Amino acid sequence: MTHPQVEVGRGRTHSRADFDVVIVGAGFAGLYMLHRLGRMGFRARVVEAGNGVGGTWYWNRYPGARCDVESVQYSYQFDAALQQQWDWSERYAAQPELLRYANHVADRFDLRRDIEFDTRVVCAAFDEAAERWVIETDRHARLTATYCIMATGCLSAPNQPQFRGLEAYQGTCYHTGCWPHEEVSFAGKRVAVIGTGSSAVQSIPIIAAQANQLIIFQRTANYAIPAHNMPLSDAYRAAIKADYPALRARARQTMTGIDFDYSDALALETPAEERTREYEQRWQRGGLAFLGAYKDLMVDQAANDTAAEFVRVKIRQKVRDPVVAELLAPKNTIGCKRLCIDIGYFETFNRPNVRLIDVSERPIESITPRGVKVGGREYAADAIVFATGFDAMTGAILRIDVRGRSGMALRECWREGPRTYLGLAVAGFPNLFAITGPGSPSVLTNMLPTIEQHVDWIADALGYLRARGLSYIEASAPAEDEWGAHVAELAGSTLRYTCGSWYLGVNIPGKPRTFMPYIGGFPRYVTKCNEVATRGYEGFVLG
Ligand code: NAP
Repeated sequence: MTHPQVEVGRGRTHSRADFDVVIVGAGFAGLYMLHRLGRMGFRARVVEAGNGVGGTWYWNRYPGARCDVESVQYSYQFDAALQQQWDWSERYAAQPELLRYANHVADRFDLRRDIEFDTRVVCAAFDEAAERWVIETDRHARLTATYCIMATGCLSAPNQPQFRGLEAYQGTCYHTGCWPHEEVSFAGKRVAVIGTGSSAVQSIPIIAAQANQLIIFQRTANYAIPAHNMPLSDAYRAAIKADYPALRARARQTMTGIDFDYSDALALETPAEERTREYEQRWQRGGLAFLGAYKDLMVDQAANDTAAEFVRVKIRQKVRDPVVAELLAPKNTIGCKRLCIDIGYFETFNRPNVRLIDVSERPIESITPRGVKVGGREYAADAIVFATGFDAMTGAILRIDVRGRSGMALRECWREGPRTYLGLAVAGFPNLFAITGPGSPSVLTNMLPTIEQHVDWIADALGYLRARGLSYIEASAPAEDEWGAHVAELAGSTLRYTCGSWYLGVNIPGKPRTFMPYIGGFPRYVTKCNEVATRGYEGFVLG
């Protein structure tokens, strides 16, 4: 293929790249990025490992998978007609409905023709001489592009612990993060679930109802708040739709980008009885807003203990066997690990076919050909479900061999932990962007508005460059250092360092311990991004 010579910034001339932009991933981030760039007339191509759109909701098909932010908010707002015409059926949409939504968006905006499915990016390298990205795939294809955008997701690189003996296991293994597309039935089976995070909390009640016997291996007990999921009535949907612009505006002003009731009161300044009433009300309403009860819950351990104890009491009330109840009652800081939202999780442990095995003191020794071995005892299982989470925030990007200037490997640059400017860009990696990358609010906020904000910012930046005849943008090292120090300083002021969470990378052996998301809240972050843009992309070098 021959490429016409084109003018690029500073009067340089290069052969034209295959695309202006290559986007990696066709989840909610990749889809909207493609749509925005297409509307602006950029030649963009998405490369997607799966054979369909939807990202998280394409891969996480395990029983019970659903969003933990209310569907009416866990949805795009960039297109008013889409927002008005799509009807969510439940308070928290289940995975099939979320996947239908992603497919609807892909069709509605005619996005599929620019997506290459069943293709995994294995390498992305910046060619300094030609000033473009060279992207290599597992199909031995080579694409070139001026810009490369990682829309690879925060929780998309499954963590599969390498238990001794796993390869000789004779049953069937599943991972919640890459569940088979065909129907899985556990009827009549002995099933083992390893892990008790959000994925396990959602899937365990459903697996327990199918399986002959279910054994759950728990290393750390988790807090879960009832979802009180329910069908949405026409009247409710109509009221939301009438209020949508105002609702979205309110959401933009909250720390998490979710419109719910945050209180400014302090737990420790509230009389105990009143506090319990407040927790009870929030428990009855259900969902993540439980932690919005008091402003000091995530900064003051004594305040946090009041909420934690409230939940522990609830668990003890739900679980009949006091020994099991005590094992299920978490001892760590509530909200330090991601809070779970449940539908009948704790009640599941009252079933006669369910057993809880504590592996907090005695870890799983091995997987045997017949099951799981702990403390010298083998627990037979026909199937093992690994609900063991993800190499979060950095995993999906680093599984690609990303190379910047002088062939510098991103894996090397991030050896001590991810370093970014605004979670969007990395010094030494020109024209590379990450959507919801480490150092941005991402997983601490409602992912959809957070994605839209990043996509809009990146699209505006590319438009800015094009309007000025430029084609080069790179985070400067001082700006990156300053941002990294700011992210770390804010993280240090909360209780989020008090447990071994995936936010900190503790769940992955050998991963550096760094609090990865930006904890300063959505409004503050957006203000900073807007200021950077208004000041001509302050902290970036353009050319
Ligand atoms: P996770 O929260 O990281 O949970 C993984 C579980 O596996 C933990 O209980 C962990 O124990 C356990 N585990 C890992 N390695 C183990 C080992 N070697 N031995 C024994 N246990 C082991 O993963 P996840 O449940 O997939 O959730 C990840 C995130 O995805 C969530 O926090 C949430 O942000 C998102 N998510 C959201 C929803 C939703 O409700 N919409 C559903 C699923 C996931 P330790 O805690 O001791 O490490």
